[in-house]
Amino acid sequence: MPEIVFDDVTKIYPFQKITGIIGRREKEKIRKAQMQMPYLTNEGVIALQHCSVTIPDASFAVILGPSGSGKSTLLRLIAGLEKPSVGTLTFDGVDMYDVKPEDRDTAMVFQEYALYPNQTVYQNVAFPLEVKHMPREEVEQEVNKICSLMGLSDKLDRLPQDLSGGERQRVCIARAMVRKPAVLLLDEPLSNLDVQMKDSLKAELKRVHQQYRTTFVYVTHDQEDAMALADRIIILKDGIVQMSDTPETVYRMPANRFCAEFVQASSMNILEDIPVQSDGSLQIFGMRYEPQGAQKKKLQKLKKVCAGIRSSDIRIQKGGIPAPVEYCEMIEDKRIVHVRIEDREISVIEHVGDSAMPYLHGEEIGIIPDLGTLQLFDEDGERL
Ligand code: ADP
Ligand code: MG
Repeated sequence: MPEIVFDDVTKIYPFQKITGIIGRREKEKIRKAQMQMPYLTNEGVIALQHCSVTIPDASFAVILGPSGSGKSTLLRLIAGLEKPSVGTLTFDGVDMYDVKPEDRDTAMVFQEYALYPNQTVYQNVAFPLEVKHMPREEVEQEVNKICSLMGLSDKLDRLPQDLSGGERQRVCIARAMVRKPAVLLLDEPLSNLDVQMKDSLKAELKRVHQQYRTTFVYVTHDQEDAMALADRIIILKDGIVQMSDTPETVYRMPANRFCAEFVQASSMNILEDIPVQSDGSLQIFGMRYEPQGAQKKKLQKLKKVCAGIRSSDIRIQKGGIPAPVEYCEMIEDKRIVHVRIEDREISVIEHVGDSAMPYLHGEEIGIIPDLGTLQLFDEDGERL
């Protein structure tokens, strides 16, 4: 429920000391991984730097980034398992530095399932309420409510060993939510599940979030999960926040090339080294791109830029720019066509009916890019 604000937070982990003989191999491994991180100081590894983000009250925030980018560190700071080295973290304006983890009203769900093996689903979920000495009828009411939302109503008498991976993760989420924490922290909770299981669990998570209005902070490296779940996405790279915005803005107006490529995954065509004309305009596959206002001024100072265009923003049409087909993939009702043009390979997504046939290698088609959707980045990858 609270608004969570990071104000210029930096987290430095001390270097792993390698002393003594016991556990030496393990310590050396940790130290080696640390030395591969891009930002080091005399004191240690910078896992998060100058992080200023706001997670609004009752939002579903997703922390998105590759492995080692500092996602779990951000979550552990909210939980109170780590303290900021520099900067402040507040919940509703209250500095959390001296607030113990158990006093923060947060609950956490991990990738691995931690359930009591000898207790039933009902007993596992009821446990956090029983330790609070809640009256039996109330416990029953709350357990039934969350288990019904999580699709567990007919599994209450089962033991964890008789559940599938997805069902066990549902129980973990139900147990975390049953005492209505102010903040639910989820660290890659769906990573061990198959695609179908993931989809149904995502729908349940959304439903629980809407019903309880708890602030959710969900960590993942999967951009599809982020797009499906978030009302706010925070993109991390090397411990630095790249962007914090709505999924729509992250998709339409990525702050830099890293965000564009990370969020669009395979569907973003990146065209390197496009020369800039002296008036700031660009020639893209023989079509003229005319920049406006501030973008024009910036372009006029550059010799070349990098342009990104989504596969779905290119049309296939007779009379378009001629492009020979390299190969064509049919995926459900989509035709993903890879063409070669001006020595660049680009992909185009076309929505087609079930009976459509793939294009053949060497077949010439016409394409029309929608240059209004072009994303431009300078040499450093910053958005223009
Ligand atoms: P992510 O969850 O995005 O994979 P983490 O937040 O777990 O990233 O870690 C970021 C970096 O911080 C790691 O590469 C590691 O070097 C360092 N780190 C994380 N936890 C610790 C720790 N407990 N002690 C020392 N270094 C750590
Ligand atoms: Mg992690």
